[in-house]
Amino acid sequence: MEKRNTAGKRVAKKRKGTNPLVVIMRVFGTLFLSVLMIVIITGSIFATALTIYVLNFADTTTTVNLEERTVTSSVTRIFYKNPKYDPEMPNNKQDEWTLYYGIKSQQRKPKWVDINKVPVYTQDAFVYTEDQRFYTHDGVDFRRTLVSIVKTLLGDKQGGSTITQQAIKNVTDDNETEGPEAIERKLREIFRAINVEKVYTKQDILQAYLNVIEFGDGYNEIIGLQSAANYYFRKDASELTLAESASLAAMIKSPTTLNPLYNKEENRDRMDYTFKWMLENGAISNDEYDEGLREADELVVYGDPDYSSVKEENEFDEDDFGVTDWFLDAAIDQAIWSIANQYGIEFLDAEQRFYSGGYDVYTTVDINMQKDMTERMRNNANFQTWSFDKDQLQSGFVVVDYNGHVLCNVSSRRKKKESRIFNLVHQGERSPGSCIKPIASYAPALDQDLITYSSMINDSPINVDADSDGIAEKWPVNYSEDGLSENWSYNNLTTWQMIMKSLNTAPAQLVQQMTPNYCYNFLREKLDVSTLRDGLDNDYSGMTVGGLSHGMHLEELAGAYTIFGNGGKKYETTYITKVVTTDGTVIYEQSDGYKQAIADSTAYIMNQMMRKVVTEADGTGRYAKLKNTVLAAKTGTSSNWVDLNFVGCTPDYVSAVWIGYDEWKKIPTDQYQNIGEIWHNLFGEYCENEKNHDFPMPESVTELRYCTASGDIANNGCPSAVGYYKKTNIPAYCSWH
Ligand SMILES: [Zn+2]
Repeated sequence: MEKRNTAGKRVAKKRKGTNPLVVIMRVFGTLFLSVLMIVIITGSIFATALTIYVLNFADTTTTVNLEERTVTSSVTRIFYKNPKYDPEMPNNKQDEWTLYYGIKSQQRKPKWVDINKVPVYTQDAFVYTEDQRFYTHDGVDFRRTLVSIVKTLLGDKQGGSTITQQAIKNVTDDNETEGPEAIERKLREIFRAINVEKVYTKQDILQAYLNVIEFGDGYNEIIGLQSAANYYFRKDASELTLAESASLAAMIKSPTTLNPLYNKEENRDRMDYTFKWMLENGAISNDEYDEGLREADELVVYGDPDYSSVKEENEFDEDDFGVTDWFLDAAIDQAIWSIANQYGIEFLDAEQRFYSGGYDVYTTVDINMQKDMTERMRNNANFQTWSFDKDQLQSGFVVVDYNGHVLCNVSSRRKKKESRIFNLVHQGERSPGSCIKPIASYAPALDQDLITYSSMINDSPINVDADSDGIAEKWPVNYSEDGLSENWSYNNLTTWQMIMKSLNTAPAQLVQQMTPNYCYNFLREKLDVSTLRDGLDNDYSGMTVGGLSHGMHLEELAGAYTIFGNGGKKYETTYITKVVTTDGTVIYEQSDGYKQAIADSTAYIMNQMMRKVVTEADGTGRYAKLKNTVLAAKTGTSSNWVDLNFVGCTPDYVSAVWIGYDEWKKIPTDQYQNIGEIWHNLFGEYCENEKNHDFPMPESVTELRYCTASGDIANNGCPSAVGYYKKTNIPAYCSWH
């Protein structure tokens, strides 16, 4: 009650003394305050956003590596291991590495000069012309920076940068000069400069600066003090006089318009500025100042592009190399990616660096095998049952050792006429067909004891919606060797028989037990298969019969099979072991590390089962059989006979061959030899002559006779054959006999 009264009183009072002017003032006051509040709030939001924006640069700006651009070599060299080199006979006068290919940069490279070879007055000439507070600031001269940002906003591209900032700009090639990107660049540069000053000494920074700044006259690209001293004065940088130093320092602001060769007067005028500030800062005495001016008036400038005070490497003639081979193309591709990854830059930028020189690349090639296999691939007799004209059937062939080193890559049957073209083995994505079965279903299933060597599996379909039409059906049919589909026998077959005959039913059942996702992740994570697509390939067709949306790189297929010959270890598949800059910085080095993809027992039992593919009379790979050497292999046919694959594991090598057409059409198998035979024609001789002829059996495996009727361990009365079992998972004795 009281409240109401009070309110009533106040209203009455208000009405009584109302003055229209006061009301208007109040309304406007409120309005003004509201607007003010909005401005303050908006302003705060904006300021916060700006702070976040700026701090973002502080966070994301990594420290610049000042040595990064100071590689002085203008050549990139690619090496192969000399087959005649023997580490156990170091006196046989053979170098370990031989030049495989050399690339010479078209650009004139900066010639490196050490800061302690540069006269102090030369250093001072640059410091007092370009950045007077260089020795006292922390990388950024904020007074000049503010002026510079305003100038940049007004479209002026010049000025404001410290020597630290200029060095960073040239080292990083980050030099956007217009629009909002220019402001971002400036901010990035500021934070980088502050970081660089924390990591490097002033001498380091000045040295980097002197070696990366530009002295070009508009006709010749001249980078770095040494090149400039050579070009303009026919001198080594250590021999520059005071006036010569001043002349070079004077041109930095604008190398062409202040050029000592073509704009002598402008350069001379600017030299006065250099001398003046050197004197003011005590870098030179009054006498030196006078002497410098006198010398400046008589300065002789040459502009000699051929003079060099530095010995340059000229050890090869690029024309000697010609077209790169298939292996080199893949190795170069991998080397460029390693540079891109090391510096966090785009592939195209890394490629440019690679071709501008300064890198040594060590490859894994077996040079004799590479040359020989290239020839064998070009021989039609290795493929065709009789000779055709203008045959377009393509083929790829790759060999990998058990440490993941690619030894040979031949990506075509035709002569290679161009460098760095599409590489089938390295970049092609073709269906592995049934070659996916050992790696996607049998190996992971055996590894988790879902099957043994002699488990009985029924040749019958599963009920599944394999083609994603929403209807579950009986799937998959089997393929016969002549390309026709076959129905199910409903017979029991052992695991090894299923592999040997390449029936589709057993892998389908295993994929169902493990789930397609499990198999998919196994391939991706354990075996490094990089071409699988989420949502497309983690399905029954892909994981059972290799019906992938895109396919696999042949080198990754061969790489995946290495686990069957090295105790289940998956190493990185690689063409190169090392990339080093000519000054010794390691860009990439292949690690000795591996993933234990499957147990060594699983690997060995898989190996034994895949031997049956070639040794059994009805094995799909019987035409590949070797005389002296053990071969564990798998054939792979895609549906519609568009792709044919063969992967073979011998004690020293994993080799894979693929045939098919560029336009994905059916292979006329009557016109070509069996894929196993093609493999044998190409590589059989190598395998027969391997150092090793058999795979060692690990401790974890035992050899036992099993009952061929039940698949269990044989009793005396059982019909039996030899099988291989994990000591931790031996089947029970046969209960049938
Ligand atoms: Zn039995």
